[in-house]
Amino acid sequence: MEASSVKHTVQLFTHTSTGCPFCTTFQDGEKIDENINHLLQEHGGQLLHVGTETSKNYEGETHHATLALIGFSVVPEKRLPKPGNIRFSQSGE
Ligand SMILES: [Zn+2]
Repeated sequence: MEASSVKHTVQLFTHTSTGCPFCTTFQDGEKIDENINHLLQEHGGQLLHVGTETSKNYEGETHHATLALIGFSVVPEKRLPKPGNIRFSQSGE
């Protein structure tokens, strides 16, 4: 995949846990390697860049984080909740 064909990019950071942007999989920031694998294998992503980021927290401590950029040639559709999981309640029932 050419870099110029990347339509959508996702950033992953160590120490930052978040849900997968494309499905309901939880991504533990400590397992950035597994998160990268998930995006590559499950969602067709391409590893664009891996680097380190150094920052200081409010106490002045230096933190090192690994960041990864994952590119996608298409913007994957977000998976909507299954209709069966949505319950509408109407007043009066
Ligand atoms: Zn996912």
